Amino acid sequence: MVIGSGIAGLSYALKVAQHGSVVLITKNELSETNTSYAQGGIAAVTEPFDSYEQHINDTLIAGARLNDESIVRMVVKKAPNAIKSLTDWGTNFDKTSDGSLDLAKEGGHSAHRILHHKDNTGFEIQRALTEQVKSHPNITVLEHHFAIDILTQHHLGQDIKRKSGNVECYGVYALNLKQEAVDTIIAKTTFIATGGIGNIYQTTTNPRIATGDGIAMVYRAKGVIENMEFVQFHPTALYHPQERPSFLITEALRGAGAILKNHKGETFMSKYDERGSLAPRDIVARAIDSEMKLNGEAHVYLDGTGIKAEVWKEHFPNIFKKCQELGIDVLRQSIPVIPAAHYLVGGIKVNEEAKSTIKYLFAAGEVTSTGLHGANRLASNSLIEALVYAEIAAENAIDMLHRIEYNKAIPEWDYKGTTETEEMILITQNHKELMQIMSNYVGIVRSDLRLKRALRRLEIIYEETENLYRRSVVSKEICELRNAINISYLTIKMAMNREKSIGLHFNIDHQ
Ligand SMILES: Cc1cc2nc3c(=O)[nH]c(=O)nc-3n(C[C@H](O)[C@H](O)[C@H](O)COP(=O)(O)OP(=O)(O)OC[C@H]3O[C@@H](n4cnc5c(N)ncnc54)[C@H](O)[C@@H]3O)c2cc1C
Repeated sequence: MVIGSGIAGLSYALKVAQHGSVVLITKNELSETNTSYAQGGIAAVTEPFDSYEQHINDTLIAGARLNDESIVRMVVKKAPNAIKSLTDWGTNFDKTSDGSLDLAKEGGHSAHRILHHKDNTGFEIQRALTEQVKSHPNITVLEHHFAIDILTQHHLGQDIKRKSGNVECYGVYALNLKQEAVDTIIAKTTFIATGGIGNIYQTTTNPRIATGDGIAMVYRAKGVIENMEFVQFHPTALYHPQERPSFLITEALRGAGAILKNHKGETFMSKYDERGSLAPRDIVARAIDSEMKLNGEAHVYLDGTGIKAEVWKEHFPNIFKKCQELGIDVLRQSIPVIPAAHYLVGGIKVNEEAKSTIKYLFAAGEVTSTGLHGANRLASNSLIEALVYAEIAAENAIDMLHRIEYNKAIPEWDYKGTTETEEMILITQNHKELMQIMSNYVGIVRSDLRLKRALRRLEIIYEETENLYRRSVVSKEICELRNAINISYLTIKMAMNREKSIGLHFNIDHQ
């Protein structure tokens, strides 16, 4: 049983399908994933001028050495083979004129090691894997199926404790969104690959599917979740509140000479870092956040009017076109920009065998916390982490398959007492409030007071929503809201528990 159709879910399904039948559910269409939106590429050591040690070191430096070094070593060393699986499945990466891989270099990497396909690598990976999965005879794909909760002893009426270590997973309750009925899907092993959490924030680069469902399900099932305080924000997304996900303005634009300015036209970055607009991602994101809070403004500006028209058209045609569509003439006007929630480092704790703390439940991809990233993610290390861990999970799931029986005692979904169809406004308003709380108090810059206030506000929304959930007909919207509240709670609590600012977690009271 696989939940999720991004790089982790699809590659895992293809590996285990060689040994048995697989059902893969996804809450939207197969291709609506964070994976499809990935632009830059996927990191791996593939050439002799590079080395594992360099990739390991770069990853440790980015992660402020909070990484688990043994995991970093394992992932970096397994990366080249995992890439081979991707190309065997038909993924194309750009090549140079002599036929070798056209490797890019990104911030924080000491060598050219980013495999890419134009500036839409994720889309190409998704295309290739989707084709393979759709044509595989052992894989049944169920689109528009929303996983509500994983099945455990709790559903057999037993009381389970978080620290007991003996929770078992028997499959999942999934809402068939077309038929509006809940299916009970029993499985020997379950693999969660439900991706990130961007949609708990007002501005995000993540598509709407990223509501942290997998993390919330595992938390409710008493599994261990960790490192939720480490949320990566991209410093410059296009400020256009009507649009979700936010359009990404690449950092390369600042490299080409674009300068950050506030509403008064001041070039504020030099106040924060001597490298000005070219400071690293986290510093720029924090500076923008601080400038917005100081002046009470909803965004800042990125002034690219000094960049020649030829450079704009040759190197940044998509940004040029996008701004043009919105009536922004980038040759004469600055672009309004805002930091956006981009990537979650923490999540479901898994060990080096991709096992969660719940028996028969594996996980990989953005939904997990593996120890690879430490306190911050090195660019292009997330797709490779998902791919490597999906492969590890597949090996271990296959290994245990013959020792597990289906648990046929699991009851069907209980519809009792859930007869009301609530007005949608009750759900959407609470979701809006939640995003405001998270963006204003638990965003890039935190403080003890902001975190405390966030928790108090969240408690009200939590109580209202649990009440609503208990009496309402189950729907994707109410489940997503409930999940978003659960993961927001975990993010706030873990931010409160972190004693010192490090990596992506910055608290002005604990610097
Ligand atoms: C704009 C952007 C650019 C990026 N660029 C890069 C890059 O260049 N390099 C890099 O390494 N990383 C990049 N990333 C990060 C990377 O894309 C993700 O971390 C990675 O794709 C996550 O893959 P995944 O398989 O874990 O999850 P996803 O690809 O997000 O897939 C999650 C799947 O789970 C499904 N799902 C979720 N909840 C449920 C539920 N309740 N029931 C059923 N199905 C569910 C979703 O529908 C989806 O199919 C980028 C991310 C974004 C948003």
